Amino acid sequence: MPAVIEVSKCTGCESCVGACPVETITMQAGKAVVGDACIDCGACVGACPCSAIEMK
Ligand code: SF4
Ligand code: SF4
Repeated sequence: MPAVIEVSKCTGCESCVGACPVETITMQAGKAVVGDACIDCGACVGACPCSAIEMK
């Protein structure tokens, strides 16, 4: 299942953007957005200092 961003917790730090091996996380209006290329690796979950990302 893909990574899901809990928008209310996202501070826009961009840590997850660099952590994603397939570069499918982008920033839109200051919030992280997971793209369709997500391979469900979970790397972004550990990279987020705000616990704003879950695998669902
Ligand atoms: S789970 Fe992996 S592939 Fe999917 S958005 Fe997070 S880092 Fe990228
Ligand atoms: S690492 Fe977490 S807080 Fe930072 S931009 Fe990504 S989802 Fe938002």
